Amino acid sequence: MKKKKLLFLLFNILFLALTNSIAQKPIEITSSEIYAKLQKLGNLGSVLYIAAHPDDENTSVISYFNNYKHFNTTYLSLTRGDGGQNLIGPEIRELLGIIRTQELLAARRIDGGNQVFSRANDFGYSKGPEETFRIWDKDSVLYDIVWAIRCLKPDIIINRFDHRTPGTTHGHHTGSAMLSFEAFDMAGNPDIFPGQLKYTEVWQPKRLFFNTSWWFYGSREKFEEANKDNLTSLDIGAYYPLLGQSNNEISAKSRSQHRCQGFGRLGSRGSEIEYFEFLKGEKPSGDQPFAGINTSWDRINGGSEIQAKIDRIIQSFNFEAPHKIIPDLMNLYQSIKMLDHNPYKEKKLGECKEIIQACTGLFLEAKTNNHKIVPGEEIMIDFELINRSNSNIDVHKIIILPVDKEIEWKEKLPFNRVLSKQISVTLPSNATYTNPYWLNQEGTLGLYSVQDKQLIGMPETPRYLSVQYELEIEGVKILIDRDVVFKSGEPDKGEVYKPLEVIPEYTIEMQNPILFFSEENRKTLNVKVNHHINNDNTDTLLLKLPDGFIAEPTYHLLSGENYQDLFSFEITAPEKEQKQEVLAEIHTKDGNIYSRTMHSISYDHIPEQTVLQPAATTLVRLQIKSTVDKIGYIQGAGDRIPEFLKEIGIQCDLLSLSDIPTTELNQYDAFIFGIRALNTLDGIDNAMPALLEYAKNGGNLILQYNTNRGVKTENFSPYPLTISRDRVTDENSPVKILDPDHQVLNTPNSINESDFKNWVQERGLYFPGTWSDKFDTVIAFKDPGEEYLPSGLLIAPYGKGNYVYTGISWFRELPAGVPGAFKLFVNILSLSTINN
Ligand SMILES: [Zn+2]
Repeated sequence: MKKKKLLFLLFNILFLALTNSIAQKPIEITSSEIYAKLQKLGNLGSVLYIAAHPDDENTSVISYFNNYKHFNTTYLSLTRGDGGQNLIGPEIRELLGIIRTQELLAARRIDGGNQVFSRANDFGYSKGPEETFRIWDKDSVLYDIVWAIRCLKPDIIINRFDHRTPGTTHGHHTGSAMLSFEAFDMAGNPDIFPGQLKYTEVWQPKRLFFNTSWWFYGSREKFEEANKDNLTSLDIGAYYPLLGQSNNEISAKSRSQHRCQGFGRLGSRGSEIEYFEFLKGEKPSGDQPFAGINTSWDRINGGSEIQAKIDRIIQSFNFEAPHKIIPDLMNLYQSIKMLDHNPYKEKKLGECKEIIQACTGLFLEAKTNNHKIVPGEEIMIDFELINRSNSNIDVHKIIILPVDKEIEWKEKLPFNRVLSKQISVTLPSNATYTNPYWLNQEGTLGLYSVQDKQLIGMPETPRYLSVQYELEIEGVKILIDRDVVFKSGEPDKGEVYKPLEVIPEYTIEMQNPILFFSEENRKTLNVKVNHHINNDNTDTLLLKLPDGFIAEPTYHLLSGENYQDLFSFEITAPEKEQKQEVLAEIHTKDGNIYSRTMHSISYDHIPEQTVLQPAATTLVRLQIKSTVDKIGYIQGAGDRIPEFLKEIGIQCDLLSLSDIPTTELNQYDAFIFGIRALNTLDGIDNAMPALLEYAKNGGNLILQYNTNRGVKTENFSPYPLTISRDRVTDENSPVKILDPDHQVLNTPNSINESDFKNWVQERGLYFPGTWSDKFDTVIAFKDPGEEYLPSGLLIAPYGKGNYVYTGISWFRELPAGVPGAFKLFVNILSLSTINN
């Protein structure tokens, strides 16, 4: 029974992927869409597209294979894009990965593809596949790709990137193509990852391609001249009258879902050629990637009869009365069910069910009024069943899963009349939380930890509560599964569906993500407790403190009511400089421990997401000296440096460019531009002369990193300096002290090699490529196998003051509370204060 359920999960999520609307909202399917689904039902072709990140995929190609060729088309994104930037909100890292996962699902709902993942984590920029493989754990990612191939059984695999050009693009990109190249031969070999064969079969795809374009050749001219013997091509500019859209219009809408990456774009129409370079497998017998591959039902035993039935159904389809094909559809459903096991059976039965429901206007919904529920809680489920056709439909039974609550419900579903029922269910006390499954255990930098291997690949965690409807349609028994949903009518939005979440009884919100102990060794930590259920327990809130830290009081007692309340602890830090973590926990009388915080991620283009993470605050003990009182700061693209400077007692005035002419600049010990100021601030060219003058008169002007393209003024430095794309991505890279006597390494804080330990994500980016010898170089970083780069921090005395250009990633290190980075940054701010 247990195994059967796992198999069911595997087929339902990884194989059927999007057919049972994962966005919770029922899909409203028009007759045109039913017709397109029938065409797809008659096709057994399958494509797997492989790349590294959400947004790498070619949505035109995915839409074309799905909507024009009617192939089962899946995008395997090896990562969830945790390492990217977020242009629409504050979420970064894991939380950004959740947004980007949902953006991919939103894109697939538009272009009709399926979406799967591997466990690989997007750990940030990587210069080459060797580093990528080391950090990801190559074998684990190969395991996941082979698993995806065996489950999805593609005829052809298409790589987005070239596996032969390491070093020319992100290491994750080349890496994705290299792994796909290897996995292609492994998936069909039963000796490789034999454990997977308990749940699926080996599968040998026919062909592997690289989805190339002129861009990979350097220019259109070079591509024109290149030998194209190995290339096949497709004109993907099709127009779909059934959908009223061109392929590229659909593709642009799909791609525009990657909003947190700023990928919104215009649609286009008309003929457009995509190229596919043949890499291995059986060479195509014609000029198209699928040439010579049988994609009809004839390819399987007993399939010709099925194909004939589907063709007849398509011919007789009546757009005004789709239910008229129901008797034939039920017959087809039974015929497919009676086929021997084959790679397509489960998937096609699922498609059949979806078409049957659409043709009958069958609406089956189980909803609750609770958005978030707690293990042990009793909830009411409201059922609404309606048949909006003349087909004969009877309901026999409903089963609420996984609690196995069976309800006999023998009734006819008459034309257009709602049947309803209300049933209460008590969640088991061991119900699992609906948290993203890849975040439940701590993984490594490069790989999520997923204990239940059956979950690998799934885009999201299956919802906990679902309903199985046992129906009889035109005399044929059929089981239909649906998640229990939460929906509400909202005055400003109308009907809103949200995923039904199972959450812990208590969640804890730390009010301070980070606490700095700099001048004072005593700080207040505020902890908000949310109790999501009423009971008569008396529970205890306490802190798990690192050695040397003391809390006063040591605990708070909590009552068992449903409430939200704030509790404070006075934390005393030891003298020794360090960075630690404190965790909050609630211990209940019956021995449960709750220690999670709950985030909600809410945007219009994706379903609301609820995420549980450890309730933790970073404690940073700094022994830092500062001679700086006040600085001026102008934000560029946006960073959080000013709030962290305030934490160590430095007054930080936030200004805009328009303030410059009227501001007394001499009041500032230093003046800083935020990240990418030269790229983002219109009018910076007008402000620069006054700021350079300020530096010359004894001030200290500091520029942080800018990208080398799209700089809005060339006159940002008193001496020649050019920005390159040089970066040091290894946050643990060796450091060479070039000028140990330089003021910036000694005053007011003494800096040594230990201050470069425990940095995060990277050392820095877009370092200057050339610079005048007026600049001092004081430290150098290097990535593995590369030369030391000395230009991460360039300091030039200028008149009576200083000018500094620094590509070091201060915007990452300060918010992460890295003590050494704070000290060096304060020394940079202090450059002009020491001798004045
Ligand atoms: Zn990418």
